[in-house]
Amino acid sequence: MSKRLHLTRNRVQEIADLAEEVAGYQFPVNPIAILRTQARISLRRGHFGDAFDGLLEWREGRFWVYSNLVRVGPPESARERFTIAHELGHYFIDEHRNALIRGVGCHPSFSEFQSDELAEREADLFASRLLMPTWAFTAAIPKNPQGIPDILTLKKQFETSLTSTAIRYVGLAGFFCAIVKWNDDGFGWRWTSQEAYENRYWSTIKSADRLPRDSATRMIMRGEASSPGFIERGAVASMWFDYVGMGGQRDIILIEQAISLGQYGCLTLLLPAPKNGQWPCH
Ligand SMILES: [Zn+2]
Repeated sequence: MSKRLHLTRNRVQEIADLAEEVAGYQFPVNPIAILRTQARISLRRGHFGDAFDGLLEWREGRFWVYSNLVRVGPPESARERFTIAHELGHYFIDEHRNALIRGVGCHPSFSEFQSDELAEREADLFASRLLMPTWAFTAAIPKNPQGIPDILTLKKQFETSLTSTAIRYVGLAGFFCAIVKWNDDGFGWRWTSQEAYENRYWSTIKSADRLPRDSATRMIMRGEASSPGFIERGAVASMWFDYVGMGGQRDIILIEQAISLGQYGCLTLLLPAPKNGQWPCH
């Protein structure tokens, strides 16, 4: 697999272009149909314990994809669609496919941003762009954005998981926002929008213990709203971002929205508070 240390801007663009070319202009994208028709790969579904989410194998001169229903849920669920799109990434990205053919043999995957390994991040990027092409996703983001309610609508439209939809939303929102993923044992990862990054809101807190007990995130962590319900509360930037002084110019008022991911923890979305009743505009 790839030996690059960083996912460079050029590499991101290269993989995004490849995925969007494979997706074409069908909507919503059907990764299982692409697997069978464009890639001519057979799909095997089964119960494989905790071994992997999906697996791409080169055997007897052809590729096989395995989908582990124990981890991805029922056939054609949002998680299975993402996992198959991720395996398509390993197939369509030349370096990944060639490594398998050269003798690596099979590649077990834990998709949906669970792995820090570069090849996995590349395949996750491919999957995200395949299922949520820029042209379609940008057009679908409401002009008067509301955060998690938008993400829940987009998730239905694109038949994607909450996590992958939320990441794409933050990436294309066009206004200040950030997302933090919490696992059962604490901080998972964060993504910030370009606008948040440019304004130096780079690093979020990594311990929910620093938040008030009645914050949306801690309430969700205590199980005070069941999926797909979410909780919304006010917050300030100094509660959430490192290097933002309390009461300073950058200590802006935020809306904190949190939602449960069931066994996968929870997500927090941070947005600027509406001004004069108006949410942030593009
Ligand atoms: Zn993988």
